[in-house]
Amino acid sequence: VQRTHKYKEKLQQFVFKLVDEISQDGNWGEVAKYIPALSKVKLEQLEICIYLENGDIVSSTQSFTPFSIQSISKVFLLRNESSGNAFDSIVQLEQENGIPRNPFINAGAIKTTDIILKKKSPENALDEILTFIRDAASNNEIFINEEVAQSEMNSGHKNYAIAHFMRAYGTLDNKPQTVLKTYFHQCSIEMTCKQLAMAGRIFIGKEHKIPHLSQSIIKNTNAIMMIAGHYNGSGDFAVRVGIPGKSGVGGGILAIVPNQASIAVWSPGLNEFGNSKAGTLALEKISNFMNWSLFS
Ligand code: GLU
Repeated sequence: VQRTHKYKEKLQQFVFKLVDEISQDGNWGEVAKYIPALSKVKLEQLEICIYLENGDIVSSTQSFTPFSIQSISKVFLLRNESSGNAFDSIVQLEQENGIPRNPFINAGAIKTTDIILKKKSPENALDEILTFIRDAASNNEIFINEEVAQSEMNSGHKNYAIAHFMRAYGTLDNKPQTVLKTYFHQCSIEMTCKQLAMAGRIFIGKEHKIPHLSQSIIKNTNAIMMIAGHYNGSGDFAVRVGIPGKSGVGGGILAIVPNQASIAVWSPGLNEFGNSKAGTLALEKISNFMNWSLFS
């Protein structure tokens, strides 16, 4: 597609119409209930922001709502993973022992946080993560929601189980309590779709390279998003949308069109896989409209 002014206008009109249509249909899914603080979020909401590599921005609104980025935080930490081994060994471990619901991402994320904590205190680690995301988004108004973090600390039993499990197998270097407190705070970062689309620029691969983010990290992060970004719905997302993406239980999704765009969508209702229902549908429609699927 030609990147002209007219093309931006067309996409803009499409996005407005899309949000209207999806809102009218009203198939919102259900908000995440297992984190009490998230269960209070109003269901009927959908926001979209698209950053195009030429610097244009297309969005569904001017006033964006901050939401809990949850597992999307993981994509901004992948650079800390020194090798693939931590993932692989944990995947095997988990598979053999049958721990349910996306052990790959949670165990991998907890391990990544553990690696950071080898060299840093929890406060410094969180500072570093926030600074990285703020730099990526060119925006200092990004914070951690303490209420959500506390809510997760009180209710994240599955994550405690995973962390203790890894500790028992000797694959977690720090105390489960310390790692999880840091992990829960990292998941409780709040961003708007605009901030997230801006932060996603670093994975487009063309410009906005920030120091210490090499081409190989960009490539790896996109590949991991492609195969594992949407829990058990990753295959469904690959078929329907066809680009790398990472979702979080807060209802946000960051999707990357390599060399072309960074897209953030948010709608708190989740589908049967735990991914934003309206958000996934919106991405599917946008991807079709723009012919953005890597498989098309
Ligand atoms: N903090 C959440 C958990 O670990 C993140 C879930 C998610 O977004 O995948 O359960």
